[in-house]
Amino acid sequence: MPNITLNSVVKTYGGKSLAVDNLTTTFPSGEFICLLGPSGCGKTTTLRMIAGLERPDSGEIRFGDEVFYSSQTGTYLRPEKRKLGLMFQSYALWPHMTVEQNVVFGLAMKRMPREDQAKRFTELAKLFHLDGLGQRYPRELSGGQQQRVALARMLAVSPDLLLLDEPLSNLDASLRLEMRAELKRLHQTLGCTVIFVTHDQLEAMTMATSIAVMNKGRIEQMAKPMDIYRHPSSHFVANFVGSPPMNMLTPGEAPGLASEMTKILGTPADRAGTVGIRPEALRLTGQPANGGLKATIDTIQPTGADWIIGLQAEGRQLFALSSEPPPADIGAEVGLNLKADGIHAFDQNGKAVGP
Ligand code: ATP
Repeated sequence: MPNITLNSVVKTYGGKSLAVDNLTTTFPSGEFICLLGPSGCGKTTTLRMIAGLERPDSGEIRFGDEVFYSSQTGTYLRPEKRKLGLMFQSYALWPHMTVEQNVVFGLAMKRMPREDQAKRFTELAKLFHLDGLGQRYPRELSGGQQQRVALARMLAVSPDLLLLDEPLSNLDASLRLEMRAELKRLHQTLGCTVIFVTHDQLEAMTMATSIAVMNKGRIEQMAKPMDIYRHPSSHFVANFVGSPPMNMLTPGEAPGLASEMTKILGTPADRAGTVGIRPEALRLTGQPANGGLKATIDTIQPTGADWIIGLQAEGRQLFALSSEPPPADIGAEVGLNLKADGIHAFDQNGKAVGP
């Protein structure tokens, strides 16, 4: 199966608002890629250009050797000519059609014989747990069932590429969990390429084989989820991925803590602009060691499985995350131990710096 390639793709709206800024990247075939980033960073525009729903200003988009779009040759392949499955937040099933009619709609349009359509529906109904629901109408289904019908409809035509724009955002937490597992399983079974737009880092971390973190119309970093988390290439990525977010110290803030962090990292102090530490890398001890780092507990938020502990250290608010209850109560002074693998440094331009 071919890769998706974007070459110097630019997209502006109304000739001035730059949505996608000279984007060059390859989405390898067979991957589950999550485009992750804050609102307005250009995720949806990127997806819509790959789908053919939005025309770039310039650049090139290819699916293997097949040119979807090229400003140089003037090529523009219409969406229906690109062999892909699309699913958006509003997955809009046809209300006047039964589940079966909805699912086989694309096949009927392609004039597949009725018998074969019915066979395909049986296969898909099994895959998406829709057995016995074929003759119902969308209004007679739960939200999760509707979502599964939309997925089955998208997959009925055996697309090589699935483009999904926040398809889980209308679901409640438990259904979302179920659908995340379902989509992941589906990707593993079908082996097709998936490009999934989300601003939800948990969705990206749990489902993707590769996360592309977007910022201001560009991809900041593309890597495996755990690599994004453990080795963020920039301040932006480090700040965006992780909950609670990484504790960031700009130069001059909490100097005792900051210099301990650069010492552990081995980063020359003059190269590090900002230093950051993951909340789970801040370990609390009951008694501050002599001459060691200390902080005062100011809030305690139990989440059930973990505790988010608010701290004041050298006039700075920090958050620690622990699977153990805090060693003391609010107002108490505690010691701080720092775990080396959760510490990061960034230069004046926000790029990660190593030792
Ligand atoms: P969200 O998560 O909020 O959907 P996004 O990352 O998907 O955001 P896009 O929808 O791609 O971002 O938008 C990128 C930029 O382009 C934003 O600044 C947005 O305001 C602008 N934009 C998007 N669509 C249009 C449009 N049809 N007309 C004008 N500007 C647009």
